[in-house]
Amino acid sequence: MRRISIFGATGSIGEQTIDLMRHCGGAQAFHTVALTGGRNVARLAEQARELRAEIAVTAYEDCLPALRAALAGSGIPAAAGEAALLEAADRPADWIMSAIVGAAGLAPGFRALRHGTTLALANKESLVTAGPLLLAEAARHGARILPVDSEHSAIFQALVGEDMAAVERIVLTASGGALRDWPLERLARATVAEALAHPNWSMGQRITIDSASMFNKALEVIETREYFGVAPEQVEVIVHPESIIHSMVGYRDGAIMAHLGVADMRHAIGYALNWPARSALPVARLDFTTLGSLTFRPADETRYPALRLAREVMAVRGLAGAAFNAAKEIALDHFIGGGIGFADMAGIVEETLDFLSGGGGLGNAPLSLDDVREMDRIARAKAAACAAGLTARRAG
Ligand code: NAD
Ligand code: MG
Repeated sequence: MRRISIFGATGSIGEQTIDLMRHCGGAQAFHTVALTGGRNVARLAEQARELRAEIAVTAYEDCLPALRAALAGSGIPAAAGEAALLEAADRPADWIMSAIVGAAGLAPGFRALRHGTTLALANKESLVTAGPLLLAEAARHGARILPVDSEHSAIFQALVGEDMAAVERIVLTASGGALRDWPLERLARATVAEALAHPNWSMGQRITIDSASMFNKALEVIETREYFGVAPEQVEVIVHPESIIHSMVGYRDGAIMAHLGVADMRHAIGYALNWPARSALPVARLDFTTLGSLTFRPADETRYPALRLAREVMAVRGLAGAAFNAAKEIALDHFIGGGIGFADMAGIVEETLDFLSGGGGLGNAPLSLDDVREMDRIARAKAAACAAGLTARRAG
């Protein structure tokens, strides 16, 4: 039986992974090693009972008593905290889903690679903050990293049997998020609720807001550059409001290979789960007779400064991805908390990157995860100071 662990089991990607496992026979078909979650311990315990997991881990120590209580009588042990997440990643498994949101998802996935485990990577922050380290660790231990972001899964699939040297360009599609049709003047005043009304995809709260600001696409551009090893200028972004084409690869003979399907993350999760085979998935099929038209518009960097900042990050490389992501996470926290406006998020990230360039070590190549963590910490502090300044100005 295949041994599977899911980091971030209670989130949007985690739940959909479990849904596919259930579809393929659940506890009869898979041996579930570790399931991890955050504060939603009731749900985590339910999942652990259903899949008869070896262990359930919450990221938060203060949630441990509640998790233990929820697992009472099941015989499934509970654990909590960062060290417990790493221990869970050390448990022998064949396939691990990395679906914790944010920079916190990096360490457990990184740890699993040393055991040669196949890492299905939904946590895009891992490649953005530590791409070269992650790929080197995988190569050192003969571990596979399979992309789960829908765009990267699409690109991965469009590359099957092809020679990377023949690739001319990679075109990432972007839905444009909830605010794509808003006039620029109104965009700056968008609320959290408005940014959360995604037209096509049902995802976690943070990535949904990142879709509206295009910070999600910015992370994905960097992720593409790192995972596929292409030059920054080979990565293009196009807004495609229907989200039917999940991304494309253009070859030097002018041919374009595109991945099409309904907007359902289980395409990408299922491909990684069954790779290199293709198995039946419970996803809706495209009906071309009712599809109507597929439309495209340019991704305007004035409207979406996150995309311009992603280009800067790729030009600097080094620790710029770690700083970019950390500042973005802090800016997002403050937007969700109501202290800053929608457009302030990009301003905070830009100010943080400017502050850290030159003598700030932004361009230094990380030698270990500690270097990444340190840059993450510094960038968070700087971004938090920027956000506090903005909040004070708004209040005054
Ligand atoms: P989510 O918010 O729905 O779930 C996140 C999971 O991580 C939960 O299980 C939560 O308990 C856990 N978690 C949160 N903070 C944590 C911390 N500090 N330490 C340990 N665990 C923590 O998120 P999601 O939408 O499922 O996204 C997960 C990852 O997948 C993100 O990196 C996201 O960018 C990426 N992704 C998501 C989608 C999608 O459709 N949801 C698509 C592509 C990529
Ligand atoms: Mg995506």
